[in-house]
Amino acid sequence: MTHPAIQEVVAVFGQPVAGNPTQYMMEKAFAQVGLDWRYLTLEVAPEGLSDAMRGMRAMGFRGCNLTIPHKVEVLKYLDRTSEAAALMGAVNCVNRVGDELIGENTDGKGFVQSLRGLADPQGKHVAILGAGGAARAIAVEVGLAGAAQITIVNRTEPRGQELADLLNHQVHVAARFVQWDGDYELPPETDVLINATSIGLGDDDSRVPLSVGTLEPDMVVADVIFNPPETRLIRDARQRGCQTLDGLGMLVNQAVIAFKIWTGRDADAAVMRDALEEFLGL
Ligand code: NDP
Repeated sequence: MTHPAIQEVVAVFGQPVAGNPTQYMMEKAFAQVGLDWRYLTLEVAPEGLSDAMRGMRAMGFRGCNLTIPHKVEVLKYLDRTSEAAALMGAVNCVNRVGDELIGENTDGKGFVQSLRGLADPQGKHVAILGAGGAARAIAVEVGLAGAAQITIVNRTEPRGQELADLLNHQVHVAARFVQWDGDYELPPETDVLINATSIGLGDDDSRVPLSVGTLEPDMVVADVIFNPPETRLIRDARQRGCQTLDGLGMLVNQAVIAFKIWTGRDADAAVMRDALEEFLGL
């Protein structure tokens, strides 16, 4: 019996890697459209990234995802980056086209795609908690999608101010920085609140410092945390009558977008979501 060669390989380079939900989603999605592709989870230390990227070229991988701590560092090993990824200064998805490696960022696009299921960001007042990689990706895409105003709320001033400056001067959306000190009081004109910090990761009782009484029923509250998806913030917001969005939608949609970039095909988001929930035991 002969076995046909695997058609293509994509990989995720990250550290540390403790089981990767994206691998599970991607391989289900490849199988569902009849592609004999593989998605490998490869642990790469910071000092190994340059060799990993050379290896990817040498072995003809179709592309890769990057997780912490490689999303910024990888830029120096690429031939080109998309406009949004260049603005964010971070790449989570690389596509090989001929000999060229092209950097993209699907995190923020994945978030906006799931937000659109509840609200169009166009013309909205958006408050983002955090100013790290996820917050940058979301803020740039929400800005490009036409938000009227973005408020960046962050504990550490330079990081928060830098993101607000980027939004004002390069994305051309009105943005301001608020130093996060104590419970944040949401301005009543807020339409969308996004927790883009790591608070809540692995602990469904972790409290985001927020004055819950300032949440109003006409607000959308989103959390980037997907494990567990039912965060304390999501529960509090639901109790206040807000529409809520957990982090699973963002994770699924960033994978759907990456799938399209690599394969040119549309993945079935429902298959990916089921795979993710199965992987996480939900
Ligand atoms: P970073 O380390 O780049 O940024 C973390 C941010 O959280 C910083 O702004 C930091 O503030 C803030 N923060 C952390 N702890 C606290 C605290 N106790 N109080 C106030 N602020 C705090 O991480 P990422 O942006 O890459 O990731 C953030 C989260 O997003 C992770 O949990 C990750 O799993 C999740 N994520 C989810 C995705 C999805 O698809 N659902 C995709 C990508 C990420 P400061 O600047 O002051 O340190």
